[in-house]
Amino acid sequence: MVFFSLLFPDECRVCKVGLTGFTRVPVCERCLKAPVPIAANYFCLTCRTPFQNAFPLDESGRCRLCRSGARGFDMAYCFGAYEDTLRELIHLFKYGRIKPLARTLGAYLALALPRDQQFDVVVPMPLHWRRRWQRGFNQSELLARMIARRCAIPMVNAVRRTRATAAQAGLSNARRRENVAGAFRVKKPHTVEGRRVLLIDDVMTTGATASACALALKRGGASSVTLLALARVDRRLFEPDQLKPDQQVSQEVA
Ligand SMILES: [Zn+2]
Ligand SMILES: [Zn+2]
Repeated sequence: MVFFSLLFPDECRVCKVGLTGFTRVPVCERCLKAPVPIAANYFCLTCRTPFQNAFPLDESGRCRLCRSGARGFDMAYCFGAYEDTLRELIHLFKYGRIKPLARTLGAYLALALPRDQQFDVVVPMPLHWRRRWQRGFNQSELLARMIARRCAIPMVNAVRRTRATAAQAGLSNARRRENVAGAFRVKKPHTVEGRRVLLIDDVMTTGATASACALALKRGGASSVTLLALARVDRRLFEPDQLKPDQQVSQEVA
């Protein structure tokens, strides 16, 4: 029963439309093609966080967090908002463990690659071994493989998550950074020393986790670290007093 529904899914797991024929992913063509790039009139030049207006940005176009020097990465790029169909597809990929979705999602991730920059090595955001063991794979690693192939540079699992960090839910930006500081260690320094690293993550919430990982890579000798994420939590979508969707998101992260 389960076996058959995997091979011949009867309906799209996103929009519930009936599916016909053999498919490797239980999602219809329309849903696979639905994700769109994030759009913003105002965004930080460094971390590309979108804002409602220009007020959070200084004259150099940077947000408060980037100005404070708290960011571990040099630049961040992201494909879409962590909403709607893109979010559904990421859920199916990560929690539904539908690994062939890496192809579709990797293609979206590639659209966000900066065209004017060169990298030497692709590094996936590591999962704590326990999480990886539970899921059977690291979603960021599957995406990183796609990007490495496209850029014709090596992918290296250069960083280890030394401890499982507590859920980021309900923590302020500063507490999030404390929570993840020191949670990463470079295990193969020779693979990143003097290299321009492209760090791959699936979902970026505040960037605190990616930032901590980037700092570890810098400590390991990386000459630069650029973050490339598939989806980001778009805070413009939430009212300030309505933090629930965000909290829900933070618990899903990793
Ligand atoms: Zn569909
Ligand atoms: Zn910024």
